[in-house]
Amino acid sequence: MFRSVRGMKDLYGRESDKFDFILSKFKSVGERYGFGMIYTPILEYTDVFLRSIGDETDVVSKEMYTFLDKGEESVTLRPEGTAGVIRAVVCEHMDQCLPVKLMYCGEMFRYDRPQKGRFRQFRQFGLEYIGDKSPHTDAITIAIAADCIRSIGFFDFKISLNSLGDDETRENYTKAIVKYFSRHEDRLSDESKSRLRKNPLRILDSKDKQDIEICSMAPILMDYLSKESRTYFNRVCSLLGDYEINYEIDNFLVRGLDYYSHTAFEIHPTAGSYREALGGGGRYDKLLSIFGGQEASGIGFAIGIERLMFLMDEFFTQQKKRKVAVVPVSEAETSTAFAIFRDLQNCQIASEFIHLGNLGKKMKIADRLGCDIAIIIGENEIQSKTVTLKFMNNREAENKNKTVRGADLIQFLRTTLDNQPACT
Ligand code: AMP
Repeated sequence: MFRSVRGMKDLYGRESDKFDFILSKFKSVGERYGFGMIYTPILEYTDVFLRSIGDETDVVSKEMYTFLDKGEESVTLRPEGTAGVIRAVVCEHMDQCLPVKLMYCGEMFRYDRPQKGRFRQFRQFGLEYIGDKSPHTDAITIAIAADCIRSIGFFDFKISLNSLGDDETRENYTKAIVKYFSRHEDRLSDESKSRLRKNPLRILDSKDKQDIEICSMAPILMDYLSKESRTYFNRVCSLLGDYEINYEIDNFLVRGLDYYSHTAFEIHPTAGSYREALGGGGRYDKLLSIFGGQEASGIGFAIGIERLMFLMDEFFTQQKKRKVAVVPVSEAETSTAFAIFRDLQNCQIASEFIHLGNLGKKMKIADRLGCDIAIIIGENEIQSKTVTLKFMNNREAENKNKTVRGADLIQFLRTTLDNQPACT
């Protein structure tokens, strides 16, 4: 038997309905704030991620699907969306005319240990607000992330916030943590020992138990913010207050990727047992110039769609578009029924043509396909130029079958389908 690759799932039925629902809600929030969609390739040259995310991060050092293509070029299945979007902004010269406001949705790939809410192929919705550096933009971006999650009817979440400051901040902070971690070097994991030399900030991402314990006593970034970074961060906090967005400061939130500066945030659920991050993002000052673009700052976030699909399982009911089944009683009525089906489709009425098996089987299929009304065409109907309608959902099942003149069918369906709630 074939099976899908470990950590990669097929999405269909209720799951794909949930996915489409989330995406349409998120896109309409993004559009409301003036963002347009961008679709970038799933595959990028590996350097796009090495240069931006940083080679000491977990994502780059452990989780990337990287391989040589037939031309011996190193390519990588994207592990996140921001690097590719910014690469595209620069390649397509969109940075010549700022601000640029883009949203995206698509597959991401990370070779991580699959578990609840963690896959090797998963989907993110994200957006990037580029070239408008001000605390207002940070507050708006965080508000958009919150609006997205609320738009699907999920409200039990909190926003954690931190500032990674500017270059001066990180230089001073790095000195402080190098001093601190050097004192505990013998107890650090091998990986953190190596990071101590190459990229000390990344020790704070360690998942090693002993490292986590040592990190909990480490100096905090907030104490090393430059004057300018502190003023900026305080302003972001007060604007979030104006927006009535609840947040809490998390001194150890460093986001696991090298490109962030200033504001960093994450969103976590607050009810139930699942508490893994739903999304996160932050500001980046250098990303455009890394790709050879303008010296412009941006801010963005990404939300993991599978995690939301999992959390909304309990409350998700999709309003299906109402649909009719065209059912010939026997082979003799098939061509008349097929002509009616074509008429319905030409008039944009959602319909199924059901012609396999006896009448009982056809009605079962119509029910399974979620049809609300079956249009039954038998010998009598053909002779009298009528159709018999059978209402299939609960409410209308109480009604008797109804006979409608063939010439009135489209008008009748239009009014009936528009006025009645659909089965869910
Ligand atoms: P990150 O940029 O790594 O914080 O990812 C943003 C969001 O994507 C996370 O908050 C998760 O919701 C989601 N995400 C990240 N990694 C995975 C994964 N392996 N499987 C499913 N969702 C993920």
